[in-house]
Formats: sequence, structure tokens, C-alpha cells
Amino acid sequence: MTETCEQTVRRLHRSFDEGVSRPLAWRREQLGRMKRMITAHRKDIEQAVFLDLGKPAAETALMEIKLVLDEIRFVEPRIERWSRRHHAVMPLLMQPARSWTMAEPKGVVLVISPWNYPLMLSLEPMVDAIAAGNCVCLKPSELSPNTSTLLERLIGEYLDPRAFAVVQGAVPETTELLRQPFDHIFYTGNGRVGSIVMEAAAKQLTPVTLELGGKSPVFVDSSANLDAAAGRIAWGRFTNAGQTCVAPDYVLTTPDLIEPLAEKITAFTKKFFGDNPTESASYGHIVNTKQFDRLVKLLPTDRKAFSVSKTDRERLYIAPTVLTDVQPDDPVMQEEIFGPILPILAVKDAKEAVAFINERPKPLALYVFTCSKTTRLLFEQHTSSGALGFNLPLGHLLSNRLPFGGVDASGMGSYHGKAGFLEFSHVKTVTSKPTFPDTLRIAYPPYRRLTK
Ligand code: NAD
Repeated sequence: MTETCEQTVRRLHRSFDEGVSRPLAWRREQLGRMKRMITAHRKDIEQAVFLDLGKPAAETALMEIKLVLDEIRFVEPRIERWSRRHHAVMPLLMQPARSWTMAEPKGVVLVISPWNYPLMLSLEPMVDAIAAGNCVCLKPSELSPNTSTLLERLIGEYLDPRAFAVVQGAVPETTELLRQPFDHIFYTGNGRVGSIVMEAAAKQLTPVTLELGGKSPVFVDSSANLDAAAGRIAWGRFTNAGQTCVAPDYVLTTPDLIEPLAEKITAFTKKFFGDNPTESASYGHIVNTKQFDRLVKLLPTDRKAFSVSKTDRERLYIAPTVLTDVQPDDPVMQEEIFGPILPILAVKDAKEAVAFINERPKPLALYVFTCSKTTRLLFEQHTSSGALGFNLPLGHLLSNRLPFGGVDASGMGSYHGKAGFLEFSHVKTVTSKPTFPDTLRIAYPPYRRLTK
């Protein structure tokens, strides 16, 4: 008989209370098992992600499998150091006394993941949660069913069943899960659902991490290496058919650079995917018809598009499309694109680009292509975003040494490496004072001596 959500979460709480997930050796053992699970099933994973998204095996290997393995390799040998006590000196008035902080696991955490990197965005938060000593309930996306089913099977086979559960389903199942008591909720997905998750968490005062999306802008100025900029923007935008949370969403540049930049980006897409991208083994498809129809509506029919936007609804393909002659009030600028379309808009200069960005919700990532120190400083000091990349889109996502997360509308909290370990930990303060000599007596009332 299958468990209800309530029974599942109760079971995980029981395991946590019994201390199943706390020992450092257990945490390392689970991470080792996850490593074996991934390496033994590389082909199954690549096949499942391919069925869900048409994602090329090389892209799954690099952007999903490798990232999770790297996270395990980075985190596993550091768990002991990160879990150690950090001693702090107590104020003179309290002496003799000792104090320290210690990272303790939060308890039972819920990880809700999306479909666009269905393996990486499920397992990477799990790695950090395990490293911190938690039990985990994973709710993978119903929109990537092949990967979600595979994850359920493999997690059941490889990881300690007392401390892990995978709950499949869509809105009703997630809603039911959100009614259960968790010690932390880690959600990756769109902001609309992010606020639903936060509202449900608020009812039980459960802390949340929200890894959301939004429009990540790019600014290119005349000092930039235009070839490098075009190649990197094209790679960042069109990987995974544009369905990457930190992909460049739109480009701002000066009017004289719009055409040369659009031509170069288009030339790169041809180099990457050939003249017929829908036939390219290096190019994925759109996740489903709902997303496909939404994206096609964003394609203007009356404007100049540098790459002619070829679409194939049956096979869910939209060719990489660069749009010029775009206005800020066009539909394509009203929502996160999350597909292979790249609008380029004109701004007078860097200051106008900063003003344009600051008028809109804070982005998950912001990329600036420039060789000018003044422009770098302008963006560093006068914009706010989850991450800022100079001449480098997506780079921050690939490092375990950097916190990954958004700000305001693009999210709250962060993970990867130590940031992830701390996100799933409670840093507890501990104090200890001997009872002899009883020096605390000087703080007791009546307060005559202290107030004289
Ligand atoms: P999705 O539709 O797969 O939803 C994500 C999760 O939320 C799923 O598990 C789904 O079941 C659940 N969900 C959906 N509706 C719900 C509801 N009403 N109540 C409770 N749970 C619900 O994925 P998506 O949201 O389309 O993902 C794309 C978005 O995620 C984009 O905005 C993208 O930028 C963002 N994203 C962010 C990151 C990041 O790391 N910041 C990474 C990937 C994607």
C-alpha cells in the first residue's frame, strides 16, 4: 500500500528524531552512494533527460551529471570541517565562560524541483541537505516524467530508505505536501508558484529557499570583444533550447552595435547547430506544447528577425531566434522568455542600461560585456542581481565555491558548496559557564552598585 504524504513526512521525522541522518559517517556514506548511483546509471539518466527535453547527451553529461558529481566531490571531504564548533570569546562581564557556534541539521526538508535541469536541480540541493545531516523529501517535476520516475527508482535503490522519500505528482500532490510540517522548504521554479510555496510555509513559520527566475539582462558596450561576446551570449542563451534560469534573456546595446552583434550571434548559432537546428543532435526541444505555444506568441510577425524563426509544433522545436527592432513594451519584454529567443534593444549608453535594468525586478543574473573599468564599476555598484558576470554568462553556476541564488523577485537564500551546507543548517549558539566562582551574581538585582 502506498503511503500518504502525511505518513511519508511523519516517517521521515521519526527517522530524523532517531538520529539516523546526523552521523558524519552516514552523510558521507549517502553521498558516496549517490555518486555510485549516478556513475552506474549515466546512460539511463542521459536517455531519460533526452526523452523529456531532447537534451543532447553531452549537455546532460556536462550540465547535469558533472555538476552533481562535482558538488559531491567538493562537499564530502569538507563536511567535518564545516560541522566543527567555532569558538567565540565571551564578554568580560560573563567570564569565566566559554561559547561556540555549531551547525546542526534543520531536520526534514522538502525539495521541490523543476523540469528544465531535472536531475541537477533535484540532486544538487539534496547533496547540500545530506551534507548538513537532514532527511529529504523530494518532489520532482511532473513535466519531466522520465527523469522524475528514474530518480524515484534510483533513490529508492541506492539511498537509505529511512531518510529519503520521493513524492511524484503535480499541483494537488505538492499542495498536500505543503500542508505537512517541514523544517525547511527548498523550491526551484517560477515566482508565481514561489509565492504559493512561501505562503504555505508562512502558515507554519517554515524557512524557505526560493530559487526563482526572471529576465536576466546583458549589456554590451563598444569596448567589448564583439566576437567573444556573441559566442558566449549565443552559448548561454541557446543551450537547453533557452530553457535555463540564468540564460541571457535580452541584450541592451548601443544602436550602432545592434546589427553587427545580431549578425555575429546568428553566425554562432549556425556554427553550433547548422542551418537546420531542428535536425541538430546538439539542440534540444521545448518541454511541451503549452510552453511552445507561449513562446510562439512572443515571436513578432511584422519585425525583422535575424535568424528566421523556424518552428515545428509536432516536434516541439523552435530554432534559435535573434530579434532586433524590439521595443520595451513588446510582449517578448513582458515576461521571462525561457526559450530560444533573444531580443536586442537599443540604449544610449551604460548609464541608460543601468536605469533600464533598475526599473525592473532584480534579475537572477546580469551579464556585462566590456573592457572598460568605469563600466564595470558602474554595474557593480549601481545594480543588484543574484549574480553579476563580466564577459561570462552562466560561469557562476559552475563553481562550488560560489553561493548561487537570487535576490528579491529572483529568489532568496542560496546554495552550492558551503552556502548550501549553511542553508540547510541551523547555526546554534552554545554558551557554558562554571557555577563556581559564581561571578554572575554581580548582575543580580538590586542594581545599586551598577547604577551608582
Ligand atoms: P515546474 O512547472 O516544473 O514547477 C516547479 C515545481 O513546482 C514542480 O515540482 C511543480 O510540481 C511545482 N508546482 C507547480 N505548480 C504548483 C502549485 N500551484 N503549487 C505547488 N507546487 C507547484 O517548473 P517552472 O516553474 O516552469 O520552471 C521554470 C522556472 O523556474 C523559470 O522561471 C526559471 O527561471 C526558474 N528556474 C530557476 C532556477 C534557479 O536556480 N533559480 C533554476 C531552474 C529554473
